[in-house]
Amino acid sequence: MIAAERGTIWRPYTQHGSADPPLFIEKAEGSTLYAKDGRRIFDAISSWWVNIHGHSHPKIAAAVAEQARTLDQVIFASCTHEPAERLADALVRAAPKGLDRVFFSDDGSTAVEAAVKLAVSFWRRRGEGRRTLIALENAYHGDTFGAMSVSAPSAFTADYAGMLFDVKRVPWPAPGREKESLDTLEKLLRSERRRAAAMIVEPLVMGASGMLMYGAASLKAMREACARHGVLFIADEVMTGFGRTGTLFACGQAGISPDILCLSKGITGGFLPLGATLAMEEVFRAFASEDRSRTFFHGHSYTGNPLSCAAAVASLSLFEEESTLSRIERIAGIHKRELKRFIRRKEVADARQTGTIAAVELRVPDAGYLSELGPKLSRFYLSRGVLLRPLGNVVYILPPYCSTEAELVRAYDAIEESLKIVGL
Ligand code: PMP
Repeated sequence: MIAAERGTIWRPYTQHGSADPPLFIEKAEGSTLYAKDGRRIFDAISSWWVNIHGHSHPKIAAAVAEQARTLDQVIFASCTHEPAERLADALVRAAPKGLDRVFFSDDGSTAVEAAVKLAVSFWRRRGEGRRTLIALENAYHGDTFGAMSVSAPSAFTADYAGMLFDVKRVPWPAPGREKESLDTLEKLLRSERRRAAAMIVEPLVMGASGMLMYGAASLKAMREACARHGVLFIADEVMTGFGRTGTLFACGQAGISPDILCLSKGITGGFLPLGATLAMEEVFRAFASEDRSRTFFHGHSYTGNPLSCAAAVASLSLFEEESTLSRIERIAGIHKRELKRFIRRKEVADARQTGTIAAVELRVPDAGYLSELGPKLSRFYLSRGVLLRPLGNVVYILPPYCSTEAELVRAYDAIEESLKIVGL
């Protein structure tokens, strides 16, 4: 019986014909997953990059429980409530300057959908039919149709080729190729004058395409080029937000404010789904009017869900209460030290880091996302008690901020040991 025939659940990003059965997790606490078969596993990827403070943090758990007893859910078109108001204020205070309006949605993809729709509608409200979107090659912004369109064409989107809208692409500013990237952007902004609506980027680290990293100077240069040409700049900080890159937001390292900012993943500390799209007042103003046809016609049933908002308020307040930024600094220091083992190893093409994200790129031919290397490595890491999901030939660690030095060293030991099994 192949895995596809077992059970009733269709899992995400899973080939049921060949995948190993899933780990049955009964409990999670801090950086540890407790499996039903008795194994304890270090969650070195924060469960798809969401559990920033670790699992089941008592403070967030208490906030959610308390909220569940008070107000579970209420329609957000006609109503508002304390957790949403508090969260919106806290996000505006924490986010780069000028992002004063918060539009809630459900997850990272919907935060991006809202951003892209806002950008296009903004220009229509302004009486200009600008529709061209600009994105980086290798980008990943989510799995819904708009988010897939701005993402780079890949195995994920191949089935929908021709159904996605057209997007102009700029090479990502890889180290040593920053000028080429910026020159292409400049040329594009000139040729798309009065047609370009917005550019969307993942700031500093492009996650799903293999933890590709670029410098703050390039981020700043792209933002400034868009500003010079009057094109909206969207920062997708769904992965990089909430401390991942060393600062609360990656944009902070470049000293920039985007016109629109997409947040999700770590926003609730990994407790509940929530997306937020923050916009500059100027964007909001283009919609606000007595004319109802100028409304932003977008919303989801669970918009501003009180439980999600309460979790997010608690998660944000932990940053001060637990000095989370110094925990982040400590993890960054451990990464820096441990990555040295991989420098100049013949099996390793590159070892890189931005803040709490560390990546080891293996030198192996034909190791795209669909190669067997990823599952083979994952299985090996699991045998060493570490949950890692390499992206093709890129093994990365993106740990909860409560991870201990011993846990991180265990993950690095497993990665070093795995160099022997990649068939080199
Ligand atoms: N944007 C980025 C940068 C992401 O990394 C992701 C998810 N990996 C998304 C958007 C989509 O988020 P979600 O999976 O919550 O829809």
